[in-house]
Amino acid sequence: MMIEGLARRAATALAVLAALNLEAAAQQAAPQAATPDTADATSRAILEAARSGTQGYDIVEGLTTEIGARLAGTPEEARARDWTAAKFREIGLENVRIEPFTIPGWIRGVETARITAPYPQQMLVTALGGSVATPADGIEAEVVYFPTFDALEAAPLASEGGDLAGKIVFISGRMEKAPDGAGYGPANVKRQRGATEAGRRGAAAVIIRSVGTDSRRFPHTGQMRYADDVPPIPIAALSAPDADQLERILERGETVEVFLKVRPHFFGDAPSGNVIGEIVGTERPEEIVLIGAHLDSWDLGTGAVDDGAGIGIVAGAAQVLIEAGLRPKRTIRVVAFGAEEVGLLGAFEYADAHADTVENHVLATESDFGAEPPYEVLINVGEGDAVIRDVAATLGLPIGDRTTTGGPDIIPLARAGVPVMRFQQDGTDYFDLHHTPDDTLDKIDPDDIAENVAAFALMAWTAANAETDFRADADTEG
Ligand SMILES: [Zn+2]
Repeated sequence: MMIEGLARRAATALAVLAALNLEAAAQQAAPQAATPDTADATSRAILEAARSGTQGYDIVEGLTTEIGARLAGTPEEARARDWTAAKFREIGLENVRIEPFTIPGWIRGVETARITAPYPQQMLVTALGGSVATPADGIEAEVVYFPTFDALEAAPLASEGGDLAGKIVFISGRMEKAPDGAGYGPANVKRQRGATEAGRRGAAAVIIRSVGTDSRRFPHTGQMRYADDVPPIPIAALSAPDADQLERILERGETVEVFLKVRPHFFGDAPSGNVIGEIVGTERPEEIVLIGAHLDSWDLGTGAVDDGAGIGIVAGAAQVLIEAGLRPKRTIRVVAFGAEEVGLLGAFEYADAHADTVENHVLATESDFGAEPPYEVLINVGEGDAVIRDVAATLGLPIGDRTTTGGPDIIPLARAGVPVMRFQQDGTDYFDLHHTPDDTLDKIDPDDIAENVAAFALMAWTAANAETDFRADADTEG
């Protein structure tokens, strides 16, 4: 059924594209229900071509099938760069290149955990990215339970009478679901700082309840960090049902012991890179509208939802414009950032490498929140506000009353003063899959990808043609 649907959509897309070069034909295109009558013929045609096409879905399908997982710094990420550069050329992007950089390589090893007392049984666990290893024969120790990260942080240090020395610290705490993923930041603190605060108190290792919103038996990985002044200890995440199980046993009041063995390792300098392609502008080619996503993924799934979907959405949006023969006045630059998951390393590299042209970036945005359709638009620009509001209205999307950094990989550009906006995608269920083995292509609906492609194509096209200085302060306009 899905195949039939795709074939039908592809046929419709071809028909639409055939008509698109003829202005009159474009005006006759059946308007989408959500497209107001005031939208111009080109905007209508872009939306129709994207919504009836499979450009974005085909790209994420290809990337996740032909490459699969692509952990930053590994040969798989390198293959993904080559694949993406070839795809960018195939869809007609210009100036396609890979901008290489080097990162500290880290790779997962054997990982296992079990309760050894009082009720021996296996648990499902995964090391957090950047974690050090346990000794080769693992660690077996008593578990000390902290319901939240705050409870751990409030625990006394060894010098204050604390008694975590040699223990395995277990940090629980549940993440709340929300469309904008608002629960992620608070829940993520234990992942990022749990090993530091437990290590500061003398613990031997840390296990956390996975940062996620599901109750499936998949542990969620994700990057962690060590403070410089604390000896690093291993940290790993339990699946939610395993964390539940451990809590039930702890509630029985007995001493609980756990065996943990995780054997990741750093392997020195490793190659990463950003892949870039452009639709070169006809009138102001030096001015750039940047649409990005991140190419690397965690190693457990195939990185379909995080962030193969985003790669499909932004490259698919460019493909829609190219297939329609549309040439923007400004350059539309597509960036597939490397090494996002391990600390936005590609984003910082891009901002450094392009520091001398950062002023030429008139608008930047990223798709990195899965494949669900957008439900609102966030804006952080000056005078271009009205242009973006118009696009949002054409898409039938309200404007959110918060600011935005444009997406994780856009943060360094936003800090450097680049105007940014973001399509807020519905992320209510995003953290069910996030960073788990369950992040695979079957979770993506082609219609949802197509709606995102439509939004990005229309925004990029409109911003690249607008007679607006997006940086100008709208408030001081006289
Ligand atoms: Zn991501």
